[in-house]
Amino acid sequence: MTIEQVSPRIARLLTTVSPFLDFYNSSKWRQRRHEPNISDFLLGNPQEMPLPGFVDALQRWAEPQNKDWFAYQDYQPEAQKIISKSLSAHRGIEFKPEDILITSGAFAGLAVMIAVITNPGDEVIFISPPWFFYEGMILEQGAIPVRVRMDEETYDLDLEAIEAAITESTRALIVNSPNNPTGKVYPPETLKTLSKILNQASQKYGHAIYIISDEPYSRIVFGGQSFPSPAKYYPNTFLIYSYGKTLLVPGQRIGYIALPPNMLEKSAFREAIFAAQLFTGWAFANAILQHAIVDIEKLSIDIEHYQEKRDQMVMALRKQGYDVKLPEGTFYLLVRSPLKDDMAFIDLLTDYDVFCLPGSVFEMPGYFRMSLTANDEMIARALPGFEAAINKAQEIGQKI
Ligand code: PLP
Repeated sequence: MTIEQVSPRIARLLTTVSPFLDFYNSSKWRQRRHEPNISDFLLGNPQEMPLPGFVDALQRWAEPQNKDWFAYQDYQPEAQKIISKSLSAHRGIEFKPEDILITSGAFAGLAVMIAVITNPGDEVIFISPPWFFYEGMILEQGAIPVRVRMDEETYDLDLEAIEAAITESTRALIVNSPNNPTGKVYPPETLKTLSKILNQASQKYGHAIYIISDEPYSRIVFGGQSFPSPAKYYPNTFLIYSYGKTLLVPGQRIGYIALPPNMLEKSAFREAIFAAQLFTGWAFANAILQHAIVDIEKLSIDIEHYQEKRDQMVMALRKQGYDVKLPEGTFYLLVRSPLKDDMAFIDLLTDYDVFCLPGSVFEMPGYFRMSLTANDEMIARALPGFEAAINKAQEIGQKI
């Protein structure tokens, strides 16, 4: 039997990510990803051992202190308190402990929020190029995904295009800042204007249009700048966070949905989010991770070191002739492919043991994305490969 026969609905969701999954499952990276001498920039996965503090915290909090240690846990009150305090300090908004709904990562937070605020037929706007799974998650709830392209020059939100895409069926807009894959941090001015547009549209259509603010990279911003969250400018924002990026442990699932203090109908939302987490299949975080939050909330990958890797890589690539913008946040670089066919260029890089993600699989044909979770040795080893590949591309280009 095929998946279409077993579950046509799930098969349809899979088609929204089929370019990505085809590449993930059958590219040369898949066959060669464990080879010792490759440079792996493909995904935001760790390429070195985890933070020692994280391992210590897991060990410490795995030791049961009472009989309920591993009982069902929805939201541990102590964890809610710790998170609300830290989040309030980071965002400059006073979040209440009961408004922190702990989830199994941003993945769950997004799925749950779309489930809570949409009815079948409602529209949810998202920005292209998107994170791979938005479209499928929206369709999963019977809602209609509406794609709005970013401003191609600045990588900022295209506010006019967003305004034009809003209809009476619009329920929400997903905003991802710092942005994967562009590295853009949307500035306060953009967020203020966005807030005006959404307030006007909410009034015009007689119902709230929400922002689902997908912020898993909010602590990975460079140049010492603080991160402006849409929640600061628009109270009808569901703030979604995951610890998977800041700690670089994406397989350990913990994050949260936070409700800003001046959001209306908060108690109804708390109840609905709890129910959606329950019926989504216990989308709460693992007990040990909730116990450990007191320690892991303080930890982070070395952001200065990531900034150094970003600067080193951007400088080296530009010197070799690549066209690449300096990302303001996240651990990704978005680079223009020297060949129009980014898949062909990715193949070329592979010949030099360098693995990157082709833009064609995330709505950026003609580009590729690299993840700076690659370790220092991989970066040093890859530089001659990048140079050889662009030279080869120029030769091929001249022949055409
Ligand atoms: N949103 C964006 C933009 C992401 O890049 C990711 C992970 O890659 C997620 C959400 C999901 O994060 P997590 O797997 O930590 O829940």
